[in-house]
Amino acid sequence: MIQLSPQRVREALEREQEEFARLHPASRLLFDEGQHHYLYGAPSHWFRRWAGKFPLFAKEASGAELRCVDGLNYVDFCLGDTGAMCGHGPRAVTKAASEQLDHGATLMLPTEHASWVGAELTRRFGLPYWGFTTSASDANRAAVRIARMITGREKVLVFSGCYHGSVEEAHVALDAAGRMVMRNGIHPNAVDHERVSAVVEFNDVEAFEEKLAAKDIACVLTEPFMTNYGMVAPAPGFHQALREATRRHGTLLLIDETHTFSSGPGGYTRLNGLEPDMLVLGKAVGGGIPVGLYGVSEEVARRMWNTVPKVDPTKVRQSAHLGFGGTLAGSALQVAAVRAVLAEVLTPAAFAHMVGLAENLAERMRQVIARFALPWYVEQLGARVETMFAPTPPINAADVTAGRNGDLEALLHVYFLNRGVLITPFHCMLLMCPASTTADADRYVEVLTEFCEFLMSKCRDAEVRA
Ligand code: PMP
Repeated sequence: MIQLSPQRVREALEREQEEFARLHPASRLLFDEGQHHYLYGAPSHWFRRWAGKFPLFAKEASGAELRCVDGLNYVDFCLGDTGAMCGHGPRAVTKAASEQLDHGATLMLPTEHASWVGAELTRRFGLPYWGFTTSASDANRAAVRIARMITGREKVLVFSGCYHGSVEEAHVALDAAGRMVMRNGIHPNAVDHERVSAVVEFNDVEAFEEKLAAKDIACVLTEPFMTNYGMVAPAPGFHQALREATRRHGTLLLIDETHTFSSGPGGYTRLNGLEPDMLVLGKAVGGGIPVGLYGVSEEVARRMWNTVPKVDPTKVRQSAHLGFGGTLAGSALQVAAVRAVLAEVLTPAAFAHMVGLAENLAERMRQVIARFALPWYVEQLGARVETMFAPTPPINAADVTAGRNGDLEALLHVYFLNRGVLITPFHCMLLMCPASTTADADRYVEVLTEFCEFLMSKCRDAEVRA
């Protein structure tokens, strides 16, 4: 099996980072200036995660293309880490949002689009009642809040390696000894995780059975197919076991489809007939306008209304609520944007195109990797593709950790950046949008082939080669 030399990979990474700096003087200058204004040198800490040591500063983007301030063009498979799964500047969203901006963006009043959007959400995802927030994080928090309210329990069970946004209960992982620790990379938070969190490995039915049996878990919060720490597929029977156990132990099942909406028009849930009590959407569903959505089942709604204090009919204007802000949640602008996305952009036909492209690209990537006998695995789910540096599919976060190679991953990122290809800066994930083309996929395969050739000639372990 091919062995890469860690030393050579590191040296190659440094050379590519120097080349990146040479190619992007304007971006570098802007990032230097940003150090004076932002905690993390740029408006979001995520922007620091690019492997070039500083981010590209974007000039403009359209469809699946992006141009940086240094005038270089990129094929964009990052797509704003899924926020731009509609593609950049989708016509229908621009039109709907501009019209709504002209007629009032946020009014503290519903608009006529609300009915169509509500009905379409139910048609696609199955759940009858919905609420808007301004992010997927907030939607998850709202759903967790409801779960606690109606179960009277405090804990949230998550799977190691998960990410659900700023839901602090989920900022935990298992260490090598199986202890609950803060998730890698998150600052200390003074939250008593022993009290509010529980964490087990994905696909570990025995472990979640044991946790649920304590009957102190309000909800299980999970992606239906993990996408945030490498991609990890649910094992056959996992979802059935999880659904059956959560029902048996009075725990709600909250499925977070923020990323896995890329599986198809009704997300992974609809594609696979899952039956969550609550479901969360975010990122792409607003086509770039900040939107989070939580949907709940008939039963959850009924239990919720049975739990909240009855409204005093003499004080009709005092409705009980979740204690969240969200002044801009459910705004006219959001609802108009979601309507445009669901009616005109992320349509069944668009998904068919995106998924077809991803299937084809994944297959070609596997062929390249096999040709060079590299021990890597390519996962594909709907419009999403991921390369992992292990020969077989991981079944949980511990497997992903074992296969992870930070320098090689960073090298791949900068190597591709220097050749005009953007991929999500967290692990090696690619996403297709309706505007992605076969030519974009061809470019990826071309650079991947070059990258593999480069590794074989410049980064192989000297002794093994000899
Ligand atoms: N859920 C999942 C599955 C996510 O991947 C993310 C973000 N990566 C979130 C929730 C949070 O989304 P946001 O940061 O837009 O609130």
